[in-house]
Amino acid sequence: MSMPFDEIGDGVYRRRYEVLDQNIGIVIGAGGVLVIDTRSVPTHGEEIVADLAGLTSLPVRWVINTHWHWDHVLGNSVFGEAQIWGHQRCHAVMQADPAAIKTAARSWLTDELNAELEQTTVVPPTTIFEDNVAMDLGDRVVRLLYRGKGHTDADITVRVGDVVFAGDLLEDGAPPVFGDGYPLEWPDTITAHLANPPRLTVPGHGDVMDGDAVATQIEELRDVARRCAAATTAEGLDLVGAPYPDEVMRTAMDRSLSERGL
Ligand SMILES: [Zn+2]
Repeated sequence: MSMPFDEIGDGVYRRRYEVLDQNIGIVIGAGGVLVIDTRSVPTHGEEIVADLAGLTSLPVRWVINTHWHWDHVLGNSVFGEAQIWGHQRCHAVMQADPAAIKTAARSWLTDELNAELEQTTVVPPTTIFEDNVAMDLGDRVVRLLYRGKGHTDADITVRVGDVVFAGDLLEDGAPPVFGDGYPLEWPDTITAHLANPPRLTVPGHGDVMDGDAVATQIEELRDVARRCAAATTAEGLDLVGAPYPDEVMRTAMDRSLSERGL
């Protein structure tokens, strides 16, 4: 189940899938199609390919992984003919411990999808970069950017004209996920990514965000960072009036302690 493609720019689309309320980005270039993130299992990747048939007959030439989390990369094996782009640490993490990527998915997936997960090959990005890189799609340029740690240690954003795909650095409809995050650095990282404000930002999950929605979320992330920085123990965290539920705040606090070596 998914909604149809949503044209959010000239030849730029997002499709919002019901599973995890996830956004997949599509950019149509002169000679092929770019797919941003590949979902949680190969059948999800195949679903993207099947859905694309209703939009274009061009082949998928490029794939981007916004970060190494399972729900963004485990459809990669479907796109064997394409170049898969990602940050060098995205590659390193997936290469070092592919089993860990799959393990993190297990408790979220149905029994049927878990059976598929067992058979799934983890395919890391094949084309990697460090700070920023421009992809040439033939008639248009797509810019990939890394600006430091945030939701993970390898989040990149994808800029196509005045649209930015932000991966899970931003999240609509649910709190940001801090489990592998760097809450103290995150606000500055996302601010640097959006220094040139886009018209529209597509978060990894949920609805597209305008400038106001993005500003609100960055302010919440700054609030989290301030509260975490003000405490040196988990018990010291001030939860009164916090922007996110206690459990989310506690995860952020735990991560901020390891960020500081406490
Ligand atoms: Zn994620």
